[in-house]
Amino acid sequence: MNKVIKSIIFAALAAFIAFGAVACKKSEQAAPANTDAAPQEAAPLYVGTNAEFEPFEYLDNGEIVGFDIDLINEIGKLIGREIVIKNIAFDGLLPAMQQRKLDIVIAGMTANDERRKSVNFSTPYFVSKQAMLVDKDNKDITVFDNLPGHKVGVVLGYTGDVIVTEIEGVDVQRYNGSSEAVMALKAKKVDAVVIDYEPAKNYAKYNDTLKLLETDLAQEEYSIAIPKDEPELLEQINKALQTLKDNGTYDALIQKYFDK
Ligand code: GLN
Repeated sequence: MNKVIKSIIFAALAAFIAFGAVACKKSEQAAPANTDAAPQEAAPLYVGTNAEFEPFEYLDNGEIVGFDIDLINEIGKLIGREIVIKNIAFDGLLPAMQQRKLDIVIAGMTANDERRKSVNFSTPYFVSKQAMLVDKDNKDITVFDNLPGHKVGVVLGYTGDVIVTEIEGVDVQRYNGSSEAVMALKAKKVDAVVIDYEPAKNYAKYNDTLKLLETDLAQEEYSIAIPKDEPELLEQINKALQTLKDNGTYDALIQKYFDK
């Protein structure tokens, strides 16, 4: 009798485990991009960002908000995909997309040739450039050419890192996020921070001991990164971007997030 009960319990347990495995597998399968399915049934689009880049993506009471987040949600509506945002370190975004942990990346990311080797970029949705932050009393650094001989903070893997690293004689200090770099500047551990213009403007606005310096560096274009083997998704996103520009949604978002 005892044996019978034991084997019933064992069978039930085995069935339970097997069912669990199937259920897990199903939810794993739901993650990768599936562009062929009908819009209502399409898998969610896993979107990577780094919420340290106000006003493009930042945390507001723990919630990830910003221009890029609104933009991708509008794109999601047009292409019939639910948007699921994943917040990770900037230099981990493209590797995570290559490993298929993310379907796409929107992170104020500059479409440059180096990145183009491994990913596709959508048509650009914003034009920016690098800017400098210094202490408001700093008289040594007024233009970009003044940087040699100074300690300069950048964020690991940002285009600012690439540009400053190429200048001879600069002591480059790399940080994991722009707020960390700005904290180092405020603590006078570095003499300047080079980051993108829009977030730099926000840091200068919130910290009255800091001053924003514009540079004459080349313009950079922000684009959405998409895996190279997803040409249909690239086309869908480009089409959606065009629709949002044509129907006024894009301009409304610009109004919402940027000072006139
Ligand atoms: N535009 C810069 C880059 O692509 C910075 C992006 C960001 O900080 N999110 O490297």
